[in-house]
Amino acid sequence: LTILESADPAVAEIVRGEQHRQQNNIELIASENFTSKAVMAAQGSCLTNKYAEGYPGKRWYGGCEEVDKVEQLAIDRVCKLFGAKYANVQPHSGSQANAAVYFSVLQPGDKVLGMNLAHGGHLTHGNPANFSGRFYNFCQYGVRQDNELIDYDELAEVAKREQPKMITAGASAYPRIIDFKKMSEIAKSVGAYLFVDMAHIAGLVAGGQHPNPMEYADFVTSTTHKSLRGPRGGIVLTNNEDLIKKINSQVFPGVQGGPLMHVIAAKAVCFGECLKPEFSEYTKQIVKNAQALAARLTELGYRIVSGGTDNHLMLVDLRPRGLNGKVASETLDHAGITVNKNGIPFDTEKITLGGGIRIGTPAVTTRGMKEAEMVQIANWIDKALNNKDNAEVLSAIRAEIATVNERFPLP
Ligand code: PLP
Repeated sequence: LTILESADPAVAEIVRGEQHRQQNNIELIASENFTSKAVMAAQGSCLTNKYAEGYPGKRWYGGCEEVDKVEQLAIDRVCKLFGAKYANVQPHSGSQANAAVYFSVLQPGDKVLGMNLAHGGHLTHGNPANFSGRFYNFCQYGVRQDNELIDYDELAEVAKREQPKMITAGASAYPRIIDFKKMSEIAKSVGAYLFVDMAHIAGLVAGGQHPNPMEYADFVTSTTHKSLRGPRGGIVLTNNEDLIKKINSQVFPGVQGGPLMHVIAAKAVCFGECLKPEFSEYTKQIVKNAQALAARLTELGYRIVSGGTDNHLMLVDLRPRGLNGKVASETLDHAGITVNKNGIPFDTEKITLGGGIRIGTPAVTTRGMKEAEMVQIANWIDKALNNKDNAEVLSAIRAEIATVNERFPLP
């Protein structure tokens, strides 16, 4: 940052401001985390200067001998981490990893069965505003209204009726274990590919806290920046030799040009960290923390969607408290607590407001917070929401959080 300060004080000031925000706030966005300094060092390295279209040993540019090694290291480590035979580590994001999967075996107009966005699915699983919904003919499955769990019976019924070419599993706001075995049985029964997008839960899978989809899915994608705690980016995994060939030609030249070799180096560092026993301990604590936070919020009278959580996140339905997600997330921002507004399955609130908030524990767990701090966080959330129009109370909470955060420095 000293170099940046002398070269470009305007940008340096913004970075400092963001550093300050991250240090002083409670970060509860379920898709965010704090990477290690080693991940940042790799990402901020001279590898950013290198063009390397192609794959290790088969590049369109000269001078790739060093970046070849780092890409191969990332591939080998991520294959070991998830027990996969093949990997592509080049996607610049989760969305681009997903695009490569669709492009590899689908034609525009083909039918795909994906999870309803309003029930926890992701934009790239068929939302009409996204390329996936524009190129492919998506039908949807969701959760049951009575227990808010994925309705596998409905899924099987829709699959039978619609005969999709692919079934997409995985979610951005689903707090329970996903039954990949059952989904693969359903996919097989209709001759569809099973594609698991494990972006949110990849860290938990790596740490043994969620079943691994590799055994069941034809394709697995993930982001690397959520519970995996790496740089922003994507990956595609498969056990099928024909499918990896298709994936490789769809990532490059299909949807991308030159890979980001500095980010791939940072992915290699991240996968190396995930292979250490400490990472498994970290993911255990993520789940314990989410459960402790959900339990305390329940005690305080909040309705948690599906009654709790098995993973790193929960959805809090704020409609019974006469609040919506927008008001709640803005109030919590004033108190130094960062969350996102979120729709609740079968929401009755406008989509722009959202019936609730999504809360995740990967980032606070990275800081070393445990169950006692989760109880404290739930108490702060409750106090802030009960005093949403009282600026004094909100800034007192903010100050208290900044003091507590001093005990939990960023990596
Ligand atoms: N898939 C899922 C399930 C996600 O939750 C996300 C991001 O939120 C993505 C894909 C997309 O990742 P990116 O934002 O890197 O494009």
